[in-house]
Amino acid sequence: MRLNIAIDGPVGAGKSSVADAVARRLGILHLDTGAMYRALGLAALERGMNLQDEKAMVELCGSLPVSVTYGEDGQHTFVEGKDVTGLIRTNEVSMAASTVSRYADVRRAMVALQQKLAAETDMLVDGRDICTTVLPDATAKIYLTASAEERAKRRWKEMNEKGMPDTYEKVLEDVRRRDEQDMNREVEPLRQAEDAELVDSTNLTFDETVEAILKIVEAKTHG
Ligand code: C5P
Repeated sequence: MRLNIAIDGPVGAGKSSVADAVARRLGILHLDTGAMYRALGLAALERGMNLQDEKAMVELCGSLPVSVTYGEDGQHTFVEGKDVTGLIRTNEVSMAASTVSRYADVRRAMVALQQKLAAETDMLVDGRDICTTVLPDATAKIYLTASAEERAKRRWKEMNEKGMPDTYEKVLEDVRRRDEQDMNREVEPLRQAEDAELVDSTNLTFDETVEAILKIVEAKTHG
């Protein structure tokens, strides 16, 4: 049977890096679905488009092929054949992704692509609506979270290391704003699926978080 692991959670819960480590341990690919919304947000920003214009965003999504490939260093995300992996991690693109992901037809297209990829191969998929919508029948479903302050602290540290110096207060404000947008949008808002297992990493180290998830997967596959 196909092994599909679904991980949802809010910004800064460490999903991407934790998911990467879990997927490596399991020897399966990791699909970072946020990167796909980010790629679309970046494309809209680069074109100077109005992100509040739903019709224009849906049209852009339909006309722009977003795709992913896998290399030694993990997932690469492409828009119209251009590798945008290194360009989609800025704060501006984060907010743009959060905005374009509100639109139902944008989500429909992205979800279809994600389901196609997950059907083709064993995969761990992380995002906001994976347990609820993309892979409701996943082998294991996890909701990974941490307090807003802890998530902002981690993100702030990570951004500083990358030479993007924002104040902690600004990062915390962004985290809260993005939570607000992601949890209160009309279409597929971020929430813990009823049958997803909660992993709260506020007081866990990175390795402990990885182990907690592996334990859940183990219980589902061998339990
Ligand atoms: O996970 P990441 O922070 O890269 O996602 C960027 C944005 O894309 C999120 O804030 C969220 O609004 C959106 N997103 C989504 N559904 C997903 C993945 C990401 O709406 N499955």
